[in-house]
Amino acid sequence: MSKIETINTHKVTLPTRRKHEWASSVGDPIGTHLLVEIRTSDGIVGWGETTPMATWGGVGGRYDGSTVDATRNLIDDYLAPRMLGEPVDNIVRLHRTMDSAVKGNTYAKAAVEMACYDAAGKALGVPVHTLLGGAVRQNVRACHSIGIMAQDAAIEEGVAAVREGITSLKIKTARNYADDVGIVRGLRAELGEDVDLRVDGNEGYPDVATAVRVTREQEEFGISICEQPLASDTGLAELRSRVNVGVMADESAWSVSDVARLNHAGAIDYFSLYVTKAGGLMKAVTSGRFAEAMGLSCDIGGSVEFGIGNAANLHLAAVLPAANLPSVLPLTAPEGAATTKVAGRYYMDDIVTQAFRYADGCLTVPSEPGLGIEVDTDKVRKYSS
Ligand SMILES: [Mg+2]
Repeated sequence: MSKIETINTHKVTLPTRRKHEWASSVGDPIGTHLLVEIRTSDGIVGWGETTPMATWGGVGGRYDGSTVDATRNLIDDYLAPRMLGEPVDNIVRLHRTMDSAVKGNTYAKAAVEMACYDAAGKALGVPVHTLLGGAVRQNVRACHSIGIMAQDAAIEEGVAAVREGITSLKIKTARNYADDVGIVRGLRAELGEDVDLRVDGNEGYPDVATAVRVTREQEEFGISICEQPLASDTGLAELRSRVNVGVMADESAWSVSDVARLNHAGAIDYFSLYVTKAGGLMKAVTSGRFAEAMGLSCDIGGSVEFGIGNAANLHLAAVLPAANLPSVLPLTAPEGAATTKVAGRYYMDDIVTQAFRYADGCLTVPSEPGLGIEVDTDKVRKYSS
């Protein structure tokens, strides 16, 4: 079997279409991610991607924010030396080795694991979703994320995305409470009843009372999900008992233990699952299988990944029956190959050679071996720093 021969990291910054902000982002710009490139003893190349952010963490300091540079250092100095010579197809062993080298740091481990899955799939001639147990869906309904912006701009963006086929919109909230309601009201008036509207407060509301008040006003315009308006489990549980809409955890749900705890506390109807936060595909699948057993649903979220991380999230979505909610998966595409102008577009270019297939508001899960994408190494060089 293929063994890991080299591990290289690349810090890559893509040009963005617009600023993308949320309540806790504090001006942290999107678009700088870390890529991991693994070469094996038999000449196979596997790619991983991760999206660490300084202002991204969990409730009560349970999880830390991080940076691309810190994550790179961790991989280069602590993880990579222990991975050399390891087989790429034994993911359980890979995690045990990484977990014994460094505690926590899911975003670093996710990138290394992703590259191993990509290489293992290529070595075996099967897509990653086959390695994860097999696909239950080929297409994933895309939700377009509207960052925090002025009401008019937010409504204009939502209408443009729907014109390009999007059937679900997520509105980032909790910086201006009047806008939180006004944008939902405006989009509902413009788009009618058929478009799914949901909100994501990113822990931004100061207290339960404010979150309940704003959520109840938004409910009049038919929102489907209220995502992480507050940080704490008890806050979410109290809010959930006082509103009608389903409550989703994101920042407070990283591991399967978190999902179990939140479920036990009666704090959630849904949670947001993705590869980086969970610490890799295998751990994300564990949470997704647990959700299925508990009767919970999840979406596949993320942090506006480039094409590599986006492909990994699509393979994750493919194998989980519980991942049945519209998912914020970008329509990443190399310059000149994009099929939309606004819908799912956060960057003006990408480091993969082809656009993801998008039709009827859905992204198609790649079916080629590994992650099913090809990385343009000239682009990686061009955008590296
Ligand atoms: Mg979120």
